[in-house]
Amino acid sequence: MLLTPGPDLRYVTGYDAIQLERLTCLVLPATGDPFLVVPRLELAAAEASPVGALGVEMVPWGESEDPFALVAGRLPADLARVGVADRMWAVMALRFRAALPRAEQVAAGTVLRELRMRKSRAEVEALREAGAAIDRVHRIVPSLLKAGRTEREVGRDIAEAIVAEGHAVVDFVIVGSGPNGASPHHELSDRVIRPGDPVVVDIGGTMPSGYCSDSTRTYAVGEAPADFRAYYAVLQEAQAAACAAVRPGVTPEAVDAAARDIITAAGYGEWFIHRTGHGIGLETHEDPYIVAGNTEPIEAGMAFSVEPGIYPGAHGARIEDIVVCTADGHESVNHVTHDLIVVDA
Ligand code: ZN
Ligand code: ZN
Ligand code: ZN
Repeated sequence: MLLTPGPDLRYVTGYDAIQLERLTCLVLPATGDPFLVVPRLELAAAEASPVGALGVEMVPWGESEDPFALVAGRLPADLARVGVADRMWAVMALRFRAALPRAEQVAAGTVLRELRMRKSRAEVEALREAGAAIDRVHRIVPSLLKAGRTEREVGRDIAEAIVAEGHAVVDFVIVGSGPNGASPHHELSDRVIRPGDPVVVDIGGTMPSGYCSDSTRTYAVGEAPADFRAYYAVLQEAQAAACAAVRPGVTPEAVDAAARDIITAAGYGEWFIHRTGHGIGLETHEDPYIVAGNTEPIEAGMAFSVEPGIYPGAHGARIEDIVVCTADGHESVNHVTHDLIVVDA
């Protein structure tokens, strides 16, 4: 496997290297010892990182050398297959293809997903910390949401709170007020929030540990319309049913169906336009995906979002928690109420 900077390299070594045009690459042969090819000017940073403590051989390269040839020269000439990091830049994958013309390239994720999907105790603890941090932000949101403010103004304050509450990086801030709430990945606009608006707030960041948070709550600024309150109640029931369906051996598609069946039976099926969830860890979106067609059974230690939504157009709603499958059910890392949170207009 060839792991350039990104979540795969961080997972395997703890090294949070920046992606640069100069090649840094952990080479993991099927047999024999791994080594890290690293630009000479990055050597000190690599040695100071967790990869330095692992005793991995460092192979520095100078500015006028070809690091792809350097890697190829240390690998068997008849190498048949190589796994490249899922997030390796295409320019680097193409250079490796040229340097290792006989090796078929496959995504390293085909191997690493088996490890990364099943969280260790320490990873679950890191997800709990991330969940607690984003919960603290949601508890601040009611003081920021007010009629007369724009989504962008509210979003800027939320981004500040995401960092203030312990994240290293803000990954995304979605404040979807009124009709913007019906677009699941709407981010921020200059729309002024009005009295009576439902507001979808979906926020997340990366903790210093590298693990991500992701949580959605739907708020109402003043009295929300009756049709909205009717489908919000259905959504709340659907989200709880999907969480309750989680246990070892259950398929992701069954968890998706637990939410979808309730929403469909209530007549809102055509407005639930996305899968129920996604795995989360060092990346916000990773395996396993909670979607129809995914029949790979859930196991204890798998962590993913449960986030059904209903988006009729004039407004929308979503409720999202990150849950971890336990020996006999699930643990949610998010604990903010699922009731509609009504703030003063
Ligand atoms: Zn999303
Ligand atoms: Zn989200
Ligand atoms: Zn999500």
